[in-house]
Amino acid sequence: MATPTRAPTLDELQQAPAVLQALEHAWLDSLSGIPAERHEEGGWIYLNLKTGELTAAPAPRGLRAELEISSPPLFPDCVIVATFHTHPNPTSEGWDPGPSDTDEEVLTHLGAPGLIRPTMASTQRDRIAAAAAWRVDRASLCNVKRLSFTKVRML
Ligand SMILES: [Zn+2]
Repeated sequence: MATPTRAPTLDELQQAPAVLQALEHAWLDSLSGIPAERHEEGGWIYLNLKTGELTAAPAPRGLRAELEISSPPLFPDCVIVATFHTHPNPTSEGWDPGPSDTDEEVLTHLGAPGLIRPTMASTQRDRIAAAAAWRVDRASLCNVKRLSFTKVRML
């Protein structure tokens, strides 16, 4: 793979096998079918600046409707280009499958997109609600390195 010159677009992220696989694992780990155990899972998506490869790392297990993503592991030559998490609580119980207001706030703060796997879905593509929050100046990767993950909590 070639050396990347920009962060992946939301569309590219939604089609990347590593991202889809991470969301699928997070979804399974969320135990959506077991009401007492149901909880959010998620993590971070990394871009390797030398190879262009996208990889994912999971965050610690979340709570029923909360996930702490403030301490991402850091890897050599990699920058975080997106976050992902699940919304495993059923819409039949009144839960919103889409990005929450808090999600939008956090993503705007981070300046990176968030991919969310909610309960409602028909196709794999539709299952991923994407909250885009690219900052205007995010065309260059230097800004990605400066994402601030201090006290970040998704809902
Ligand atoms: Zn959320």
